[in-house]
Amino acid sequence: MTPTTAVSRLSGQARRVEPFHVMRLLARAGELEALGRSIVHMEVGEPDFPTPGPILEAGRRALADGRTRYTSAGGLPALRRAIAAYYVERYDTPVAPERILITPGASGALQLVFLALLEAGDRVLICDPSYPCYRQVLQLMGVEPIAVPVGSDTDYQLTATLAEAAWVPGVRAIVVASPSNPTGSSIAPEVLTELYALCRDRGAALVVDEIYQGLTYDIPDRTAFSLGSDDLYVINSFSKYFGMTGWRLGWLAGPRDAVEVMERMAQNLFIAANTPAQYAALAAFDPATIEILETRRLAFQRRRDRLLPALRDLGFGIPVQPSGAFYLYARLPEGLEIDSMTLTSRILEEAGVALTPGHDFGRHAAGRHVRFAYTREIEDLDEGVRRIGDWLARV
Ligand code: PMP
Repeated sequence: MTPTTAVSRLSGQARRVEPFHVMRLLARAGELEALGRSIVHMEVGEPDFPTPGPILEAGRRALADGRTRYTSAGGLPALRRAIAAYYVERYDTPVAPERILITPGASGALQLVFLALLEAGDRVLICDPSYPCYRQVLQLMGVEPIAVPVGSDTDYQLTATLAEAAWVPGVRAIVVASPSNPTGSSIAPEVLTELYALCRDRGAALVVDEIYQGLTYDIPDRTAFSLGSDDLYVINSFSKYFGMTGWRLGWLAGPRDAVEVMERMAQNLFIAANTPAQYAALAAFDPATIEILETRRLAFQRRRDRLLPALRDLGFGIPVQPSGAFYLYARLPEGLEIDSMTLTSRILEEAGVALTPGHDFGRHAAGRHVRFAYTREIEDLDEGVRRIGDWLARV
């Protein structure tokens, strides 16, 4: 009898979940730091800023007041109303609170929307490169992600033309992110309108991940939610702009009757999102909080404006200036015959800078791309650039 391991008894889809390369690099960076090496972290996909004071204060108050029981599956009514009011105030988009569902992060929102829309065997169009969890979560559900290569010619975003060309029987949804991880690019409103029209035409749903909403620099901050109310699902989170990654709180917005069904699903899947976090998030839209967040947005913009030309000077290819998030997705310098996986390992070991290889985001041009995150102070970014420059001069 051949010996079995616990893993061999797991489902095929569980075993197919791939580890993130960035996690291996992060662990190695930790080992090097423990040995006394200095590492510049340009791989981290979360803001370096702490959660704003008014949110922390509201969270402390919630705990002091004993707000530690379940909320309803859809979330605190007051938080749903606050988000609805935020859509009106900031985006001039009226949205009924009943169309908003509070989730454990954008991650919980994505899982709910995918489970609500898709069945095993269905297909979904996503971008290559894109946030790796789309692909992995879809595969866990037995859904086939169809990764459409996108390049700088379309600002690393899907267009109706690309989607139409990639369309195959069984496509039930398109997932896009704006601004995008890893490219920081945003979808132009007219492109999104065309994608939505295509979806409507083909009976598919459009899922727009707006987790980096608020972190836009040269363009107006937008929401896709104004496009329409049928088959449109918007994913969002308190993680990035609001600086609340560890609180695990996000939301989704969708058609009212679908959200009702998703509330029942949420009840079964996770009962409700974290209660103290929901009370804390009630302070996220206070003018005092928004003032802090807007100052940070400008700090991110200054970092981008510093890092982008510095990387271009080193020969990295960033054809279009990214308009949001805190990432630069860069093509490796011409003539450098090293795969990005090897490059990120070597730059970590030999130069003390941690980056994310393109392989975490897709397959198409992954070996020739890396992602830089500007989630560090300008001085650290300068130091990272200096180290990479010295390293490139040596190889
Ligand atoms: N979508 C995108 C594009 C992301 O980059 C992330 C986190 N890195 C998420 C969703 C999930 O974030 P969270 O669950 O913290 O809201």
